[in-house]
Amino acid sequence: MLEELETLQTQALATLEQIGGADALPQWYRTHLGRKGNLTELLRGLGQLAPEERPAVGQKGNAVKKALEEAFATRQEILREAELEASLNAEPLDISLPGRPVAMGRLHLTTRMLRQMRAIFAEMGFQVYEAPEVETDENNFELLNIPPYHPARDMWDTFRVNDKVVLRTHTSPGQIRCMREYHPDPIRVILPGKCYRYEQITPRSEHQFFQVEGLAVGHGIRMTDLIGTMAEFARTMHGPDRRLRIRGSYFPFTEPSIEMDMDCIICEGQGCRICKYSGWLEVAGAGMVHPKVLANGGYDPAEWSGFAFGLGVERPAMLHHGIEDIRNFYANDLRFLRQF
Ligand SMILES: [Zn+2]
Repeated sequence: MLEELETLQTQALATLEQIGGADALPQWYRTHLGRKGNLTELLRGLGQLAPEERPAVGQKGNAVKKALEEAFATRQEILREAELEASLNAEPLDISLPGRPVAMGRLHLTTRMLRQMRAIFAEMGFQVYEAPEVETDENNFELLNIPPYHPARDMWDTFRVNDKVVLRTHTSPGQIRCMREYHPDPIRVILPGKCYRYEQITPRSEHQFFQVEGLAVGHGIRMTDLIGTMAEFARTMHGPDRRLRIRGSYFPFTEPSIEMDMDCIICEGQGCRICKYSGWLEVAGAGMVHPKVLANGGYDPAEWSGFAFGLGVERPAMLHHGIEDIRNFYANDLRFLRQF
């Protein structure tokens, strides 16, 4: 029986050496070392031996078992390493490559401009009032003192949804909504938002653009309050040394109306292509809220007064960054957007 054990060991080790892949190892283990394996079967005959032979055979049996298990563990280790190396060679992995950078988003230039403007007006106590982009003809024109026959309607070519509904041509209809909602409290709001005009698209004009409207209604509000507010805005936004120029103007919903210019930030007032060699850039249209508009909003013009202004958003951004084509703002071209 000792010889049989010896033979079993030799054969088992020989088979083990021939195994080429780790997949075949469990089968070998079951055949030789499992509960129904060769070695167990052989040692079952131990009981039929003469008692004096048993210890030697038992000892030998244990030695064979230990030898096979050690050989098995070694073989397993060797095969695993070989497979790992093979897989590394099959799919080369360059661990020195840097990782893929996470694609970081950023805010659109217009959004950043709007946030900057909101922050400046927030410092002066202006809240933000949001109004819809799709408006009634009544709010967009009539209640702002622009009746159907009024020549001022020619100033805005309008996208119409139907006879009574339009895409707002300016942020001013929000004034009516805001006044009707706030009455009889005083008002100090800005109304930022998008406007639409049926215009030819050129490098200088788009059919969609942003505006920031401002509205203050209260007791004893005067033109000087408007000018002070505009000056504070221009100097915070464009630099503390900005000079302002006020010109008389006309808007149907303000009386009197003004246009406000500041000295050109490109040429410091010397005259350049951007300011058309005038040294001045237009900043805002503004004025005192027309009594009819106040009344349409629910405020008695004998008791209340107010001012309103409208600021561009894309144009100052164009000035600051030297952007020559307004169409870039809506082209969604990452080469443009990534610059800011
Ligand atoms: Zn200039």
